[in-house]
Amino acid sequence: MMMTMKTIKIIDYLEELYPEASCELNYKTDYELLIAVMLSAQTTDVSVNKVTATLFNKYPTLEKLSRANVEEVMDIIRPIGTYRKKSQNIIDISKSLLKNYNGVVPNDRNYLESLPGVGRKTANVVLSILYNEPVCAVDTHVKRVAIRLGLAKDTDDVLTIEKKLTKIFPKEKLNKIHHQLIFFGRYHCKARNPNCENCKLKDVCKYIKNKKLQ
Ligand code: SF4
Repeated sequence: MMMTMKTIKIIDYLEELYPEASCELNYKTDYELLIAVMLSAQTTDVSVNKVTATLFNKYPTLEKLSRANVEEVMDIIRPIGTYRKKSQNIIDISKSLLKNYNGVVPNDRNYLESLPGVGRKTANVVLSILYNEPVCAVDTHVKRVAIRLGLAKDTDDVLTIEKKLTKIFPKEKLNKIHHQLIFFGRYHCKARNPNCENCKLKDVCKYIKNKKLQ
């Protein structure tokens, strides 16, 4: 793959800023990761980590989670919002994994996306972390950064952005770049007040260019 100077610059800067970027959700097993990522929709990883600490402590195995009382699960995960649906999802996902895959989270996108509360983004995160699949989950941070840097258009939907990023960055680096882009959006190129002054991507950034033209 021939990389442009811009791509190389982005990769180098992400590596300089976040050499250790990885998933910020806490988990000990494959199913804990899947459930934590499912729970992280519309909330922050920090909030998810707070509730999963209690949840996975109270139900330390998949069997126990699958037999959990939904009201008790609701009480635990209430702080993260949409907890009714998510509580039922936890129990249904646990039952399904036990029934269909002996409790293992499989490398099977179609199956994962058929689980309640699991969409393409969740499946991508799980496949990338557990199976090192060269996929890039596009969340709100990745989307914003990709558009600002001019790697995607602001009219693109998340699937189009995912396809564009997959073409732009080398496959073998995609898993790490995905986490680095999230960190970059979370801590540097923030939705409000991005740290443009101290950003080494200023000269390749479309957002800055458009700002200057105004
Ligand atoms: S220059 Fe600003 S908007 Fe552009 S990538 Fe850097 S922080 Fe984000």
